[in-house]
Amino acid sequence: MNILIINAGSSSLKYQLMDPETGVVSAKGLCERIYIDGRLTHNANGKKVVKDIPMPTHSEAIQAVLAILVDPVDGVIKSTDEIDAVGHRVLHGGMEFYDSCIINDEVIAAIEKCIPLGPLHNPANLMGIRACQAVMPSTPQVAVFDTAFHMTMPPVAYRYAIPTEYYKNDSLRRYGFHGTSHKYVTKRAIELMGRSDIKLVNCHLGNGSSLSAVKDGKCQDTSMGLTPLAGVPMGTRSGDLDPAVAQFVMNKYGMSADECLNMLNKKSGVLAISGVSSDFRDIEEGAAAGNEDCALALDKFAYEVRKYIGSYAAALGGLDCLVFTAGVGENSASMRARICQNLEYLGVKLDPEKNNVRGKEAIISADDSKVTVWVIPTNEELMIAQDTAALVNAAK
Ligand code: ADP
Repeated sequence: MNILIINAGSSSLKYQLMDPETGVVSAKGLCERIYIDGRLTHNANGKKVVKDIPMPTHSEAIQAVLAILVDPVDGVIKSTDEIDAVGHRVLHGGMEFYDSCIINDEVIAAIEKCIPLGPLHNPANLMGIRACQAVMPSTPQVAVFDTAFHMTMPPVAYRYAIPTEYYKNDSLRRYGFHGTSHKYVTKRAIELMGRSDIKLVNCHLGNGSSLSAVKDGKCQDTSMGLTPLAGVPMGTRSGDLDPAVAQFVMNKYGMSADECLNMLNKKSGVLAISGVSSDFRDIEEGAAAGNEDCALALDKFAYEVRKYIGSYAAALGGLDCLVFTAGVGENSASMRARICQNLEYLGVKLDPEKNNVRGKEAIISADDSKVTVWVIPTNEELMIAQDTAALVNAAK
């Protein structure tokens, strides 16, 4: 089976052609500068091709992707009929979507309804969906939502303690993001542990970071909120903050709400504290060279992640399994060690040698650790392909 995975942004579109059973990716690439001029970067058959192709809209970008996938030289399939289904990553499913679903007119209307909650991403995701429908009308399309995995949270986790009208009228609540990644590592953790009745905390630590608390395979809480700004500090996002900070800087510096949110989303986090970079590799290098601001940025990040792990152990009433994933979680042994410091009271004990692992599935806890600590590389594309294949096969 061939599933085309589409992740459409406002001026870009990433794609992969994947076999959902084996996870083998036969081609992948990126369309950039849509609406400006248009550039396609395509990787297949062991080589990379870059082509400037006019992309006045997402529709031409999709046409360029399909054309190169069937190209006699750079392509991997003979005809677009060999694409069994398309899986679209969609940012915000609001309170409408608890799982992935086959796209029809009702689903499109519901994604549109969620635009106020995901004003930057949902319109772009919809453009990707419409462009695919236009050029391959008989191929089933599936929407996979970043928020869906978290929809099993109970009200104590998702309700904000603000007047109820904002929840009832405006759907303001915690949603959470990175759901496809949290779903994938949860599935793997259950497979690897050999049982589903585990109390699990997932740490998706990348440029954007979020944690989830999971019991019996179902999400109970997560650190991001109405938007991806909440939770632990990230590359450039502040994470949790006293909302009065926003009022203070807006009043003092004459900032609009949008300018203030832009500062909190793009100029904060470990970038702000380190004063050096949003990239953890640069910050680790800075700290190793004696830069105290870099050292503080790493400590602050580890401290906040550790606090979330502790609070989620409390929320779950215990902890069996701790998972690290995404760029930092999969690759930085030093950050994992920093986070797990002083967690022995919870039963978390790392094995320094086992922790010396990068980018592959491995247990990194000591043999006598009560909690099993895993590195599980995430694979959001595989999750999208598997969800898409399952829905399309079930509908046959
Ligand atoms: P995104 O949220 O953009 O998907 P990723 O999950 O790819 O991000 O994570 C990117 C982050 O992972 C960057 O900050 C990068 O520095 C960090 N990272 C990647 N490899 C390492 C490493 N070996 N050590 C420390 N950090 C790393």
